[in-house]
Amino acid sequence: MKNIAVFTSGGDAPGMNAAVRAVVRKSIFHGLNVFGIKRGFQGLINHEIMPMQLGSVADTIHRGGTILLTARSPEFLTPEGQAKAITFLQDQQIEGLVVIGGDGSFRGGRVLHEAGIKTVGVPGTIDNDIAFTDHCIGFDTAVNTVTDAINKLRDTATSHERIYVIEVMGRDSGNIALQAGLAGGAESIIVPEAPFDLTEICNRLQRGAQRGKLHSVILVAEGAASATHIGDEISRILNLDVRVTILGHLQRGGTPTAFDRILASRLGAKAVDLLMEGKSGLMAGFYKGEIKATPFKEVFENPKELNWDDYKLAAILAI
Ligand code: ATP
Repeated sequence: MKNIAVFTSGGDAPGMNAAVRAVVRKSIFHGLNVFGIKRGFQGLINHEIMPMQLGSVADTIHRGGTILLTARSPEFLTPEGQAKAITFLQDQQIEGLVVIGGDGSFRGGRVLHEAGIKTVGVPGTIDNDIAFTDHCIGFDTAVNTVTDAINKLRDTATSHERIYVIEVMGRDSGNIALQAGLAGGAESIIVPEAPFDLTEICNRLQRGAQRGKLHSVILVAEGAASATHIGDEISRILNLDVRVTILGHLQRGGTPTAFDRILASRLGAKAVDLLMEGKSGLMAGFYKGEIKATPFKEVFENPKELNWDDYKLAAILAI
């Protein structure tokens, strides 16, 4: 193998740059030529390729976003778009490809793998919704961002003796809500993976008020319910002042945590190792404490489970 390319795809996640850096520098260390593709799959279709040198990734490890830019490419979902991308990679003699992104990006990666281009995925998504990796790049940073927001909202919630309902990202996953809720001491955490009972939530809020609690925080994962609706309902049932905050895209930005940078460095380097071993159609993940490669097929067939122990623990601690 002589020529490797790397791109980022889907939603951006803090730490993607550290992963790109690791792919570029590990490749150069082994004497490979390495190229960056801009705008994910759309960049393959539009021929947006550039050679990467050691300096191309200098001063990027601590930056959020992605220097390679990212995109969602409806054109790549079509057979014509896929054919254009495959022809481009063949013309450029790219033998190995690292796809940094989420589940959708890996599905796109599988198309390229099946077309004979050696492809390895690196999980980068704040949603942390990919099986066979305990952490996806960006998740830890997003959880810290939300925890910080909870801390700040708690101050004003306490001062005004209010209930705050905070909506967080995660698509169909409750991972961000659960982990940030646990870290931030939320009274209730509403996730798409579990049913919720507003009466029970209101009873809990009342019990808290009766024992002198000055504030309450409820975290709602975007895939479970609308925070505005939950806030309206609680306000109607309890006749209390409820404020709603939707954190939105600020959860995707910011300096990656040390954890995300280290994870990204390890997984980016592992992806290069796998390609050099001639492997393809795999994801490099961090699973049960080890860097481990798992075939895309298994990743797609196994939905990621919520950490139910943490879910129960969060409820116990907010009693
Ligand atoms: P995030 O989890 O952050 O949203 P993602 O990688 O899951 O990231 P998607 O928008 O689902 O983001 O996918 C990114 C791109 O991958 C799509 O725009 C599309 O070009 C390609 N892709 C997604 N699904 C498929 C598929 N089934 N077949 C081929 N390509 C796909």
